[in-house]
Amino acid sequence: MDVIVLGSGVIGVTTAYYLAQGGARVTVIDRQDGAGLETSFANAGQVSPGYAAPWAAPGVPLKAVRWLLQKHAPLALRLDGSLDQLRWLAQMLAQCNRADYAVNKGRMLRLAEYSRDCLRALRAAEDLHYEQRTGGTLQVFRTPAQRAAAQRDVAVLAAAGVPHALLDADGLCAVEPALARVPGLLVGGLRLPNDETGDCHRFTQQLAARARDLGVVFRFGETIAGLDHGGRRITGIRLTSGRMQAQHYVLALGSYKVFRVKIQDAYHREHDE
Ligand SMILES: Cc1cc2nc3c(=O)[nH]c(=O)nc-3n(C[C@H](O)[C@H](O)[C@H](O)COP(=O)(O)OP(=O)(O)OC[C@H]3O[C@@H](n4cnc5c(N)ncnc54)[C@H](O)[C@@H]3O)c2cc1C
Repeated sequence: MDVIVLGSGVIGVTTAYYLAQGGARVTVIDRQDGAGLETSFANAGQVSPGYAAPWAAPGVPLKAVRWLLQKHAPLALRLDGSLDQLRWLAQMLAQCNRADYAVNKGRMLRLAEYSRDCLRALRAAEDLHYEQRTGGTLQVFRTPAQRAAAQRDVAVLAAAGVPHALLDADGLCAVEPALARVPGLLVGGLRLPNDETGDCHRFTQQLAARARDLGVVFRFGETIAGLDHGGRRITGIRLTSGRMQAQHYVLALGSYKVFRVKIQDAYHREHDE
């Protein structure tokens, strides 16, 4: 089986590694000179299954309106007027309620916990070192309202069997004594002892080297200019240096999914007719 993986961030490289391990012939394409040089380069380094939560949450529609007016908002929405985008927006807004939030968060939690366990197995199998630390994480609350709002997540964590502790100010200082130096500033926190941290760039670079050992070919410095497709199937990729084809394609371009709309529109046309 021939596979082209588009993008060599943490997702593209990890996908390429597992595919090669499963016997596929894999080529990875990226415009950068190496693996993990864009979003996967300098993120916060948290491996936090416990914090996995959907954007579609109660209160988000109101917050989103405020964010639209901010210069550095956590959520940016560029309306393009397409049917596909409007459909997506309507579906997201319909999920912004307590019941759907709990279901969706529960699903994300289970998937994230499984992924964290895969990461541990991969780290041990390939002897990866990326400044990983396994001391857990601590989310701190400045206001009683923030601590009260965490109850919603705690219920889902408990239902999913994820170890956690909702702490008051004293409990917070017992876990992290340095916080005793700011008395009165924090009212509590949520501790997730099984969370981890690490350097995503290092991880991606090391796994890319292991993938190369398994036969994965990396073509760096290649910009993907477009995708050819017939209906829902991708039939080739257009690089600035020429065209490439494979039996299967994996899109791992992070936030740069510039071709998504076209293919989804074709999908909806097929299914609406
Ligand atoms: C500030 C910040 C902090 C974050 N902190 C955390 C955290 O603590 N924990 C966590 O889990 N996540 C965190 N994230 C999110 C996390 O970093 C991303 O989800 C993850 O890196 C995405 O990986 P990726 O492989 O999907 O995308 P990317 O790493 O962006 O990889 C996409 C690749 O595609 C390539 N590419 C794109 N377009 C083209 C093209 N046209 N032609 C050729 N190549 C192309 C790019 O060069 C890039 O290498 C954070 C993100 C940010 C921005």
